[in-house]
Amino acid sequence: MGHLSAPLGLDPDTLCAGLGIGGGDGEPLVTPLIQSTTFCRDKVGSNAPHQYSRVSNPTVAALERALGALENAPPAVAFATGLAAETALFLSLLNSGDHVVCGRTVYGGTTRLLQQLLPDFGITTTFVDSTDLHPVRLAIRPSTRLVFIETPANPTLDITDIRSVADIAHAAGALLAVDNTFLTPILQQPLDLGADISVYSTTKFIEGHSVALGGSLVSRDPTLLERFRFIRKCTGAIQTPFNAWLTLNGLKTLPLRLRRQSESAEIIARWLADRDEISRVYYPSLSICTSRSLIERQHLGFHGAVISFELTGGIESARRFAESLERCALVEHVGSVSTLITHPASMTHADISVDERLDVGITDGLLRLSIGLESPGAIIADLERALASVNVGRGEVLTCAATH
Ligand SMILES: *Cc1c(COP(=O)(O)O)cnc(C)c1O
Repeated sequence: MGHLSAPLGLDPDTLCAGLGIGGGDGEPLVTPLIQSTTFCRDKVGSNAPHQYSRVSNPTVAALERALGALENAPPAVAFATGLAAETALFLSLLNSGDHVVCGRTVYGGTTRLLQQLLPDFGITTTFVDSTDLHPVRLAIRPSTRLVFIETPANPTLDITDIRSVADIAHAAGALLAVDNTFLTPILQQPLDLGADISVYSTTKFIEGHSVALGGSLVSRDPTLLERFRFIRKCTGAIQTPFNAWLTLNGLKTLPLRLRRQSESAEIIARWLADRDEISRVYYPSLSICTSRSLIERQHLGFHGAVISFELTGGIESARRFAESLERCALVEHVGSVSTLITHPASMTHADISVDERLDVGITDGLLRLSIGLESPGAIIADLERALASVNVGRGEVLTCAATH
């Protein structure tokens, strides 16, 4: 089969482990990195498969086949970053006068794009609590072309019912895009649940080692894919061959990493939930607000590697805690092989107004952990040490209604 094919229908472990295996005598075992910006033609006007690397490149194409195959879809469209992919999605589907319905708890950069840039082009967005179907239905207008959700949502890990929101969007003649960055195709298949487009920042779990930015759009609709490629060509937002090559390498261990990291996250989330210094833990399987049957239906066995939690004592304890950790780096990132901690209020969601941030549960004391491949015991020991340095009392336990 070789690197030229990523066959449909293989289980994800076999598909990922087999990426780039050369077939023929003397072929490289690993997909070659082809950095060439341009490609030769044997005749004037010949239609060579690759002509210029802003339009397509063999290494980028190998990654695109793999990302598509993981969702039983044609080759994905790879972008320089996750936000470049989202920009292409919006430019592909929306014109001046069009309207978007977006989940209110999404990546901060998604909110910034929809709220601060697209209105200049006549595109407006209504942000709703998509965990509840009623506000989604109410927000739909005749001009709504797109519903955009993230589930589990960043950083409070709220779960939206993809199938029900897809039905609402389709009944209104709109498309549904799901940002699946946190669970990846290994733990959630949005297209199988009725979504039209899966959106990724491959910068996170898919590449997994914090060495390459990237984004992708996956769909089973060839017309949409063609449109995404056209916008990518117009805007010059393709992923670099080197980053695609690194991402392809990372992808080989994605199933293994994500399951192990999710298993550890479940253990650590339960440990955090038992601590007096922590007033609330956000993790899908511990959520009192989410129906168990929904997450069991929607997630493929595990619930991801990201946990958020609220320290009593607000910003001061959050700061002391984050700075006392020895094993967990304080960064604006998730999805790496090592455990990371983020303070969303001052980092990922700093651009969002305080009221909006508090409205979606991003308080000053909220911290987000992305669990890595260390042993869960070592991470817990680090968390325990940091908690001891914070020295805060028992906090009030918040209820669902307090943040929803
Ligand atoms: C990081 C992230 C993005 C943006 O991706 P970049 O590669 O940083 O541009 C989008 N959505 C989610 C959920 C993310 O975590």
